[in-house]
Amino acid sequence: SAVRLLGPAEVRGLAERLELRPTKKLGQNFVHDPNTVRRIVETAGVGSDDVVLEIGPGIGSLTLALLASAGAVTAVEIDSVLAERLSATVAEHAPKLADNLRVVNGDALRMSAAEFGGPDRAPTALVANLPYNVAVPVVLRLLAELPSLRHGLVMVQAEVAERMAAEPGSRRYGAPSAKSAWFADVRRAGAVSRNVFWPVPNVDSGLVAFTRHEPPAELDRERVFAVVDAAFAQRRKTLRSALAGWAGSAGRAERVLRRAGIDPAARGEQLDIAEFAAVARAADTEP
Ligand code: SAM
Repeated sequence: SAVRLLGPAEVRGLAERLELRPTKKLGQNFVHDPNTVRRIVETAGVGSDDVVLEIGPGIGSLTLALLASAGAVTAVEIDSVLAERLSATVAEHAPKLADNLRVVNGDALRMSAAEFGGPDRAPTALVANLPYNVAVPVVLRLLAELPSLRHGLVMVQAEVAERMAAEPGSRRYGAPSAKSAWFADVRRAGAVSRNVFWPVPNVDSGLVAFTRHEPPAELDRERVFAVVDAAFAQRRKTLRSALAGWAGSAGRAERVLRRAGIDPAARGEQLDIAEFAAVARAADTEP
């Protein structure tokens, strides 16, 4: 094949050459298992018509597997040492595909949308192995700002995977699940052992796959998300009191909820994203 994937010895060797000290803050745990990266690319359904946006390529394990299947890859890495080295690693392990890679040294949470790829290279798929502390904000930000993204797969800490894909009424359901559902069908797509990483993290990981759909309502997203945030800020409270601040008073919150057809004594964790949208819309007409 045109690509030589990285095994344990190569990941360790590259890390040593770069005198890398992986930091917890940036969630630097690198995959050293070819089967895992192949499985990620396959589960993501990446094909030659995809322009893949990879956030956090690190040493390049997943990047190489992506290049083997994708039309092009844009890799955004915050660590300048890793970003600088990535092209050389790809030139060594996949020389014929090196031209298909564009590396950007930057923070996925701060870069402008245009830096993720111009109109000629608009990303169609997001694939990333993300640190737990940025996983949800990165995915939500990219879905919001890059309408060209049609599908994707992220590898995150197992608990974050459960939260992102949780259904209303379940223990893990919260703001991340409700907001993700605004943009996409989100589903769990398997577990990944902590042992495929170097250094070995404290927890296992999980895969989350998503496919974009039309938003459930023709409504300003930020207004709907404000209701979601208010509802989950105090998730043990009834919606009537959790939304009091947002609505101006508990009395008005109750009237808005009734107008939306929602029981004011219900809790946020019972509402799906379409129902949150109904609440936001009902507030428009409730004096
Ligand atoms: N994709 C590689 C792999 O699977 O082996 C590395 C995954 S590692 C869990 C996460 C990577 O994301 C690290 O290389 C880290 O430096 C990078 N990173 C962390 N925060 C980032 C951010 N805000 N923007 C871009 N990259 C980030």
